[in-house]
Amino acid sequence: MTPEEEREQQHREKVASRLFSGRVDFLLSAPQLKFLPDPIVPEIAFCGRSNVGKSSLLNALTGRKAIARASVTPGRTQELNFFDVGGEPGGKPLFRLVDMPGYGFAKAPVKVVERWKNLVKSYLRGRQVLARNLVLVDSRHGLKDVDREMMKMLDEAAVGYRIVLTKTDKIKASELERVANKVAEEARKHVAAYPELHLTSSEKGMGIEALRAAVVADALGESFFERG
Ligand code: GDP
Repeated sequence: MTPEEEREQQHREKVASRLFSGRVDFLLSAPQLKFLPDPIVPEIAFCGRSNVGKSSLLNALTGRKAIARASVTPGRTQELNFFDVGGEPGGKPLFRLVDMPGYGFAKAPVKVVERWKNLVKSYLRGRQVLARNLVLVDSRHGLKDVDREMMKMLDEAAVGYRIVLTKTDKIKASELERVANKVAEEARKHVAAYPELHLTSSEKGMGIEALRAAVVADALGESFFERG
């Protein structure tokens, strides 16, 4: 990055962090499509295998301790959870975060998996306001078949997505580089995937500010930073 680009990026991160330090409210949980909120603002959805660190990342992004519930039992996670971000409490938010049900439970009954797929597929296909998806991948494990299946669903629904490596504090830098290169190489074969990965650690805060800026840009466009 040139010094000029670096200054610009710092500005974007500052604006995004300020936005997240304001209103972030849990709106509702939708166990079925008919319970979705009216599509009145852009949405950014988060998905990943159960235990990937999705709740921790949502908490880190929003700077809250427990806005998203940490891993619970399979039966309780089959819902889309919506959060209002920005704007006045009670009024129209600037955008929404959507916590999608975690996938890849080893012991999940077929019926539960089917229900998950139906809910997620219909949401992805029919949601006009869905601006971007974030696919979380554990940096220790890289892509698994369930991640690939999710990526394929996103490709088919033509929903652009960013791949976010989580828990990067848990592995050595050399190992992280190896996994990141491998994931990036595979991502390039997916039409709807962003070529660049986000490396994050919710524990250490690494990559969180940059991800905040990316989320705000995806939801509200780059012009938001000019006003901010
Ligand atoms: P979820 O099931 O995807 O919502 O995953 P959680 O956010 O509940 O995280 C699963 C486990 O990984 C928990 O024990 C977290 O403390 C741990 N974890 C999540 N993010 C990080 C991270 O960035 N670094 C480390 N070291 N542990 C993490």
